[in-house]
Parts: sequence; structure tokens; C-alpha cells
Amino acid sequence: MSRFFSSKHKNLIPYTPGEQPKDMQYIKLNTNESPYPPSIKAQRYSSEAAQLLHLYPDPQCRALTEKLAQNLGVEYENVLVTNGSDEILNFAFMAFCDGEHGCVFPDITYGFYSVFADVNSVPYEQIPLNEDFTINARDYIGINKNIFIANPNAPTGIALSTAEIERIVKSNSDNIVVIDEAYVDFGNESCVPLTKKYDNLLVTQTFSKSRSMAGARLGFGVGCKELIADLNTIKYSTNPYNINKMTMAAGIGVLEDEEYTRANCKEIIKTREYTVRELEKLGFILTDSTTNFIFAKHPKVSGSEIYQKLRENGILVRHFDKKEICDYNRITIGTYEQMKTLVDTIGGIVK
Ligand code: PMP
Repeated sequence: MSRFFSSKHKNLIPYTPGEQPKDMQYIKLNTNESPYPPSIKAQRYSSEAAQLLHLYPDPQCRALTEKLAQNLGVEYENVLVTNGSDEILNFAFMAFCDGEHGCVFPDITYGFYSVFADVNSVPYEQIPLNEDFTINARDYIGINKNIFIANPNAPTGIALSTAEIERIVKSNSDNIVVIDEAYVDFGNESCVPLTKKYDNLLVTQTFSKSRSMAGARLGFGVGCKELIADLNTIKYSTNPYNINKMTMAAGIGVLEDEEYTRANCKEIIKTREYTVRELEKLGFILTDSTTNFIFAKHPKVSGSEIYQKLRENGILVRHFDKKEICDYNRITIGTYEQMKTLVDTIGGIVK
């Protein structure tokens, strides 16, 4: 730490992204990326846009936002695209939370929420999950604080129903409810349609998972036009050109090729089901994940040992040290071939 670092950040513990080691070629199942390349259209549009990189991108992201709004069945004014969904989540903390308007989220969830709260000096409370790792929707009814829920949750992979989310949103009408749908495309219904009914609901999604664009950094939020206007105020007060030209163009390509995204999701769901079946045969206990990752523990071999041995065998998964979940590993669903290698390798480890 330099002697210039603001004292307000001196206790800040930053988010730790999944490791990206370069010492050897790994099967990378640790950051929930798609195993499939971006749509050909996205690749073509983005390389065409590269020829115009001497110019600033459109700060309104008009073409991309219009296309996205059309695909989502909402209006242009209801959508804000951002540099990954991490950015819209941070914007939401900046726009809607402060010392008087604290927030709540589950104690086991996406690790960035507490970091965003800390960096923005927002007080927060973490609500324990049920013993089976499900979120108890009743805990959030009328809680009278801003709420952040990943649905499906991470790293457990378990989802709340749209009806439960609606009850939470309805009962907290004087607070913002942010539903982070980073993984919604792998078997769940989106709450985007509810944004037409509730002015306190912000739904966020990402192009990083189902849309194969983690490297381009593109996410978005959907809400009533007043919420989006507030978030735009934050955007124009921090980084008006938050989406670069190549990403913007690639995003349009992806949205013109939704069939490709749907087919990839279908394949990932099928591969997830295969992986769950095979790991259960090996004695693993898994949560009911409806995402592009699974969350698994073995009754006889510790989570950290499985993580370490997989790593030695060239397979990266994500292990969290947190007490409640340290027996588990979060394993991204890759291609069928990658998951077959995982199953064979893990079989050798637990035998
Ligand atoms: N929400 C959740 C629950 C996530 O797991 C992630 C990915 N790490 C994100 C949001 C952010 O993803 P991105 O910034 O790539 O859109």
C-alpha cells in the first residue's frame, strides 16, 4: 500500500477472480466461461469494428441497446448495457445504496456483492442460506433494505422460482431488489417481464456465460425507465464510453444469432446432466444446479484435496475456503469431452 492510498479503502479486501495460470495447458473449469466460441456473426462484426478503433464508441450504445430491448420485449429506455454485469451491479450499489440505505444478500453468494458494498461504504447484512443451501424467500419478505440476489445463486447453482422473487419484490416496494441473472439461461425463467410491473426491480444479465463473450465484457440491466435513468447518471459520471466498439459490434452479432446461443445452452444442460449422473455414481453429493456449473462434494475426500489433485492433473476447478462450503468444488460445465476427462480423473482421485 502506498502512503497515498485513501484511508477509506485501507481495509478493503478486493474480489479474487478465478486463477488463470500459464504454467501449463489446463482444462479450465473454474470461471464459468462457455466452452464454445462466440457466434461467427459476433466475430465478423467485431473485426469489422476494429477498423474504426480510432474513433470513440457511441456512448449511448444505441444500436446494441435497441436490439437487446427488442429481443427482451422491453423498450430502449428500460435497458442499460455495461462493461460486464459486474459494472451494472457496482452502478446499482452506487446509485441506490448509501449509509442510510443499506442492503442484504445471502451469506453464500457471488463474492463481489460484499466488495461492492465495502468499496461504496454501504452497510450490509448477510442472510444465512438454509442448511440445504437454498435461499429462504421468507427471510427477505418486507425486510426493508435493498436486496441483491443471484438467481440462480452462485456458487450453489440453486434457483428461486419467479413467484418467490415476485413476493420478495412486492413486499419491499420502498427498496430496490436486484436480481442477478448471470446464469438464468441454463434452465430458468427470467424475471425481466416483472420489471414492467414493479418499479423497484432491476434485473441484470451478462453476455459472459450463455452468450460466449466473457472476454468482450458485456452485461446489462433491465428496469423501469427511472431506474435506468439513475444508472445512466452514474455511468455518465464515471465512464461514458464504457463499451468499446468491438464489444458493441460483437454484442449485436450475438443478438442476431440467438439460435446459436440457445443450441449451446441446450448442449451445456445435456452435458451437465451427464456429469451429475457420472459424479453421483462415484458417490458425490451435488446441489440441484440449473446453471453452467455444478457444486459437488465427496463424503470421503476433502474439497481441497480434490481441487489440488485435479490441478495436478491439468484440470482447474474453483474451491472456496469459506467454512460452510469448503467441502465442495464448483465445476464449470465444459464440452462433453472435457467433462468425460474430468469424470475419469476425479474417479481416480476418489477411489
Ligand atoms: N454475477 C454472478 C453471479 C457471477 O457469477 C458473475 C461472474 N463472475 C457475474 C455476475 C459477473 O459477470 P460479468 O461481469 O462477466 O458479466
